[in-house]
Amino acid sequence: MMRQFELVERVKAYDPAADEGALNRAYVFSMKAHGAQLRASGDPYFSHPIEVAGILAEMKLDAASIITGLLHDTVEDTVATLEDIERLFDPDIAKLVDGVTKLSRLELQSDQTKQAENFRKLVLAMSEDIRVLLVKLADRLHNMRTLHFLKDEERRRRIARETMEIYAPLAERIGMHEMKDELEDHAFAELHPDARASLMARLAFLREKGEGMAERIMEELQETLTSGGLTAEVSGREKTPYSVWRKMQQKNVGFEQLSDIMAFRVVVDTVEQSYHALGVIHSRYSVVPGRFKDYISTPKPNNYRSLHTGVIGPERQRIEVQIRTREMHEVAELGVAAHWVYKQGAPRTEGRQYRWLRELLDILEHASDPQEFLEHTKLEMFQDQVFCFTPKGDLIALPRGATPVDFAYAVHSVIGDTCVGAKINGRLAPLRTQLANGDQVEVITS
Ligand code: MN
Repeated sequence: MMRQFELVERVKAYDPAADEGALNRAYVFSMKAHGAQLRASGDPYFSHPIEVAGILAEMKLDAASIITGLLHDTVEDTVATLEDIERLFDPDIAKLVDGVTKLSRLELQSDQTKQAENFRKLVLAMSEDIRVLLVKLADRLHNMRTLHFLKDEERRRRIARETMEIYAPLAERIGMHEMKDELEDHAFAELHPDARASLMARLAFLREKGEGMAERIMEELQETLTSGGLTAEVSGREKTPYSVWRKMQQKNVGFEQLSDIMAFRVVVDTVEQSYHALGVIHSRYSVVPGRFKDYISTPKPNNYRSLHTGVIGPERQRIEVQIRTREMHEVAELGVAAHWVYKQGAPRTEGRQYRWLRELLDILEHASDPQEFLEHTKLEMFQDQVFCFTPKGDLIALPRGATPVDFAYAVHSVIGDTCVGAKINGRLAPLRTQLANGDQVEVITS
């Protein structure tokens, strides 16, 4: 567990103006409030808020967010009150803690209440201050890291599903890719342990077989770019088991065909250099058709910017290359949190990249009930996803283009395996039909 001075030092390292006294008070307040409570892991409960604060410090968030992380469970789980927090800290922090507490209450009820309603409240709560969502995501991340300690399997699976359906997409929506990847991987481990284990074994096998290959590819890419007159930073990373699994399902490729497991990244200084680097790579290697995407001239809705291409690269390997500037890179990895890196204490829900959040809020205010809200076509802003319902009204989020078969697998693998037909909004529909937002899907099994 991180000690008090370590946390303070970590925050001071990126934000020298952070209120040291308030950070110390929050640490002690949380420790005292949680007292002798224990986690399922057997650790003292207060290790949890401290870990959450640590995750937020890694994201280089402002002191108010770190303090909220330390205090986030005190109102819900101890005798401490919002008034105490307002008195000891400031009204701003009390508001943030209140927002996170409200979200936690939603979670506790989610068995009884409809997920659509939860989702609506979630968006409302986070729209007041994006930091509420950031703290909630850090809270969820630590809970997912320690999920295996929970004894109740049904509860573990429910939390994992909720993470996959709601929190990972939200993390992606605000551009926090690292957070999204880790959330997904923990949920994947809980929901499909066998699939994940086989994938990990396959990845290990490919890694061993291609020993040193990633390094050789990076070296050659680096040389190619240097001789093209560019100063670039080249790195490589293995795709996550979950992203590989999803690709296998979407494209129907088998385990044996699975070779494209590395993605390479080229980071340069300017936009011009990004296109220059693309030109150098394309003139040296054969391009794989259909893989080029220009997210610099047309950013994704979450403000992600990068050039993507696929080439037959060094070692005659099919590789994926992403090219971007340093600033784009920070935004791609950290999403909204990157703003604190660039200008301390800056935004809440202002700025262009939060337009989707404001639009969402707008829809919320004008839709009379949550079902209508989700059916609302303006949910198009979640351009990469569709939201559908089970006959009982549970919300299932799927990638855009998903069919009733994907839906069936998302509900349960047994249902997927035995699926022979589907009714969409009460009518029989072919299994290849693409689902639309708000569709109610009933799977017919054999
Ligand atoms: Mn918590």
